[in-house]
Amino acid sequence: SPIGERVALADLPLREDLRGRTPYGAPQLDVPVRLNTNENPYPPTPALVADVAREVAAAAAGLHRYPDRDATALRRDLAAYLSTAAGVPLTERNLWAANGSNEVLQQILQAFGGPGRTALGFEPSYSMHPIIASGTRTEWSPAPRRADFSLDTAAAAAIVAERRPDVVFLTSPNNPTGQSVPTEDLRAVVEAAPGMVVVDEAYAEFSSRESAVTLLADHPEKLIVSRTMSKAFAFAGGRLGYLAAAPAVVDALLLVRLPYHLSALTQAAARASLRHSAETLGSVALLAAERDRVAETLAGMGFDVVPSDANFVLFGRFEDAHATWRSYLEHGVLIRDVGIAGHLRVTVGTPEENDAFLAASKEVGR
Ligand code: PMP
Repeated sequence: SPIGERVALADLPLREDLRGRTPYGAPQLDVPVRLNTNENPYPPTPALVADVAREVAAAAAGLHRYPDRDATALRRDLAAYLSTAAGVPLTERNLWAANGSNEVLQQILQAFGGPGRTALGFEPSYSMHPIIASGTRTEWSPAPRRADFSLDTAAAAAIVAERRPDVVFLTSPNNPTGQSVPTEDLRAVVEAAPGMVVVDEAYAEFSSRESAVTLLADHPEKLIVSRTMSKAFAFAGGRLGYLAAAPAVVDALLLVRLPYHLSALTQAAARASLRHSAETLGSVALLAAERDRVAETLAGMGFDVVPSDANFVLFGRFEDAHATWRSYLEHGVLIRDVGIAGHLRVTVGTPEENDAFLAASKEVGR
């Protein structure tokens, strides 16, 4: 057994507010069909792998030096991609990047949240928003969605105006429920907010809606749109998240980021991967069509299916969702128990993986 094993977590002088908490923990199990963390199921193409390997080898020749602290070339590439995707002209001064959008969100709360400040989100939504709030000692203020999990933007604007949080999270498409919000409807919430508004667009590429980046010119003093290469870009293992905002917002994040947080290897690999965005994003239409097939087939089997604009589907209803989750696992299919009573979430995989999931769906207990 390892040295020090007799020391328990409860013996350590941990911050009081962290006592009794559980870490983020999507199970990482080695099963044949893994549909639990909303990744793109298609691995990078051989051409992309070769390009990443070449660029990482070139970067390796300079590993005795710290990387570009401000990741300028990568931010320029991300600006070019997002300008085209959102139809809004952006420069590298509008972009910021970190190790996954989770780190981007953490930096936002380090700069704009913190002790004595509040962040508000509409639940159920991405479970890391309150966890990052807790880690940065930002008070979490949960607000409701409709019973069908959609966002009532008029009610949302009223709650924001009343509670006056320092940071508002809007997730569109929302994880784990899947619905997206028309960008024009988000405007009311942005206008009601006295502080910063983060639109988390981790799944934007799977949606046909306009990006909230289109609202940036009207609300540069408070709007932040966060994005990631973990989902549609098939780069979850590379860890690269980014945001679009006014240059002053980026200046604020420079105050809290750790120096050289993005390694030379990460920057090189992300840039190489971005060069292949057209081929990688070619899978998006297929995944959206598979999502609709999975949703329709589940509905045909008598499940309740929440309409999704992302690469996953929330469905139910189950007497005991966790027991059903375990039953899927026994059929070799790992999906996600997101803690919503009576519901489970399945990520859209390859057609073969989806067929395996749908076959198991006929057999699991409800
Ligand atoms: N936002 C949302 C809504 C997500 O679902 C996720 C991933 N599950 C993230 C942010 C963070 O992803 P990453 O850190 O890999 O960019």
